[in-house]
Amino acid sequence: MQRHTKIVATLGPSSSDPETLERMIAAGVDVVRMNFSHGKPEDHIARANMVRAAAAKVGRNVGILGDLQGPKIRVGKFEKNKITLANGAKFILDATCEMGNQDRVGLDYKELPRDVSPGTILLLDDGKITLEVEKVKGTEIHTKVVQGGELSNNKGINRKGGGLTAPALTAKDMEDIKTAAQIGVDFLAVSFPKSAADMYMAKTLMRAAGGHALTIAKIERTEAVELKALEEILNSSDGIMVARGDLAVEVGEAAVPALQKRMIRIAREMNKLTITATQMMESMISSPVPTRAEVSDVANAVLDGTDAVMLSAETAAGKFPVETVEVMARVATEAEKFNPITLDQHFLDRTFSRIDQSIAMAALFTAHHMGAKAIAALTQSGSTALWMSRLNCGVPVYALTPDQETVRKCALMREVYPILTPPQDNVDRERLLRDAEKILLKNKVVQPGDIVVFTCGDPVGQSGGTNSLKIVRIGENS
Ligand code: PGA
Ligand code: MN
Repeated sequence: MQRHTKIVATLGPSSSDPETLERMIAAGVDVVRMNFSHGKPEDHIARANMVRAAAAKVGRNVGILGDLQGPKIRVGKFEKNKITLANGAKFILDATCEMGNQDRVGLDYKELPRDVSPGTILLLDDGKITLEVEKVKGTEIHTKVVQGGELSNNKGINRKGGGLTAPALTAKDMEDIKTAAQIGVDFLAVSFPKSAADMYMAKTLMRAAGGHALTIAKIERTEAVELKALEEILNSSDGIMVARGDLAVEVGEAAVPALQKRMIRIAREMNKLTITATQMMESMISSPVPTRAEVSDVANAVLDGTDAVMLSAETAAGKFPVETVEVMARVATEAEKFNPITLDQHFLDRTFSRIDQSIAMAALFTAHHMGAKAIAALTQSGSTALWMSRLNCGVPVYALTPDQETVRKCALMREVYPILTPPQDNVDRERLLRDAEKILLKNKVVQPGDIVVFTCGDPVGQSGGTNSLKIVRIGENS
């Protein structure tokens, strides 16, 4: 049985040797995430080459996602690397402070004093420490420690309720976009966007640098979950990441599960991709088995309809990178057995004016009701496959494309299995379909006698040109 939900795994010290990477890919990684928060451009370029070599060796299609750091606000360093804050103590965040001590610490985002006022709650280190602002004096933010604890170098700061004015793309991000384009990443994730403009900017910079990546908006700010902003961000992106780490700090952790369900539903309705991220198998950083709660979390994301589930520190810095991927793959596959067909429910409400989209929907309907073994979409850009994967019709979609880039983009789409085909120039439609049949047989995804629903363009080879559907019983017309 094939797994429908895709797995994104973050690269890091635990997964940067070829052997581990090959084992992770063999265990089921579909997309590798490179975190631009760590490492230099040369490191990323070397790692991307390693990923491609490993994928080729294992024989799987693996996409690369470049994740920009964004305006993550952090405290500076401490003289003794860390301090312990007591409840009720006073503590100063000082934009001009060079080296921190028990009384104060520096800030990498110098504008923070302008974004806060008495009563603002600041959450440090993913919410482990809570500070309440008492007053702002020039570059100094005077706070009272509400919930203390240990605070070490460079820990993150979030403002409860959102409202930080930092722009989504920093100067570093703009440089990293060039590296991402040079690598030829398939997906570009933008951190902390709060509007369509942020996503538009990222896309424009990437195009200018010669990149073609699909853009993924990380939803991790209070401003971005508000329905109108979310829809605008979705409209200007190819997909979203439910970035639960920062999001939980901004909106409160209790709000996140319902938001996750809502975001995935809306994204699917708008024909966009979704990645569910952060702490999915957190305990496997140091343990060979996950907790029951983590297993349920991964399964629930699958049932929410996410395209992909993501691993962060588990594969980047954990002790069991390969085992974690194995467990995640197993949990997803099991969860998919309880996966209601959503076709009929949603079908009647959908309207579409595009010819290619109508063919995609017709193929789903036909394949489901005829009990077809497979849908085979002969596609240039992959959009036919994307539309098909937004509804669960219970029939796998094989995206047959001569375009290597499309193959890797399809690696993130739920229940879509890309297959690279030879170039299709000067081929007539009937010949193309017969070749496609042979490819499906060769890949052992169908057998003689199976019904397959094909979609393609006539004339062939035009992006957005899908206009026909053919139902074939394998082996009957060859
Ligand atoms: P990060 O994003 O790991 O880059 O912070 C994911 C999240 O915030 O959940
Ligand atoms: Mn984040």
